[in-house]
Amino acid sequence: MDLLLQDRVVVVTGGSSGIGLALVRLLLEEGAKVATCARNLDRLIEATSELSSKYADRLLCMSCDVRSAEAVNQFIAATVSTFGGVDGLVNNAGQSRMKPFAQTEWDDWTDELELKFASVIHPVKAALPALRVSPVASIVNVNAILARQPETRLITTSAARAGVLNLSKSLSIDLAHEGVRVNSVCLGLIDTGQWRRRYDESDQSVTWEQWTADLAADRGVSLGRLGEAEEVAFAIAMLLSPRASYITGTSIDVGGGVNRNA
Ligand code: NDP
Repeated sequence: MDLLLQDRVVVVTGGSSGIGLALVRLLLEEGAKVATCARNLDRLIEATSELSSKYADRLLCMSCDVRSAEAVNQFIAATVSTFGGVDGLVNNAGQSRMKPFAQTEWDDWTDELELKFASVIHPVKAALPALRVSPVASIVNVNAILARQPETRLITTSAARAGVLNLSKSLSIDLAHEGVRVNSVCLGLIDTGQWRRRYDESDQSVTWEQWTADLAADRGVSLGRLGEAEEVAFAIAMLLSPRASYITGTSIDVGGGVNRNA
């Protein structure tokens, strides 16, 4: 099925790795024009080099820290001046913070809340004037199942995720009359840089395959494995598609049936 994303302009934050990179690839394959960012521009350029040579006139890569309103404004302004507008915005950039309450200082709370809220609020504010004039405007916030099923070892991230899920719902109501749809994908355990880094930091007494299978079992993942970045990218592309024109204010779990409260 054609997702009707040909020539649509989509902004994807955090495109140098994992889910963001898989989504950039999928959107380019679907014919969209894609603007993406990360803090480390060298890594972003290296990660997208193959895509840049194949889709040179449809891919814009910029350095931008989504915690900075000024940097985000510049990134969105460059997108509009390069591609003429914005039809889709995917707030994907970020990472989680693995700390239980007793080891969590106030700075951890403020840093985590700032990242999670700024990574949605700054891009939405910056892109809204362009989204308002798009006939197919869609925002997708990349969130986590933690928002509804908190884990105490990720206490700041869980609380921030819950707040952002609530914010996403409010935005969907607030922006509906302007024709801007807002949805979330809530992720379980997805095989990306985040988990590779944690495995690398472990004692590596078991293989990556065994480590991820144990992780999935420990977290109650019904399908018994980690998800792939491409599986998340598909769910996001579906929500971006004009074919999803009657879907707003919702969230889709992409977590292999994870149920921590079972
Ligand atoms: P990766 O670590 O593989 O990629 C994260 C991307 O975000 C990189 O491009 C990184 O580049 C960029 N990024 C991080 N912080 C910032 C920032 N402040 N400003 C701009 N770019 C930034 O992560 P995943 O693909 O796994 O995760 C994507 C999203 O999904 C994240 O928000 C993550 O928290 C969320 N998620 C992931 C889960 C998983 O199991 N993988 C589970 C639940 C949620 P750079 O470092 O150069 O800035």
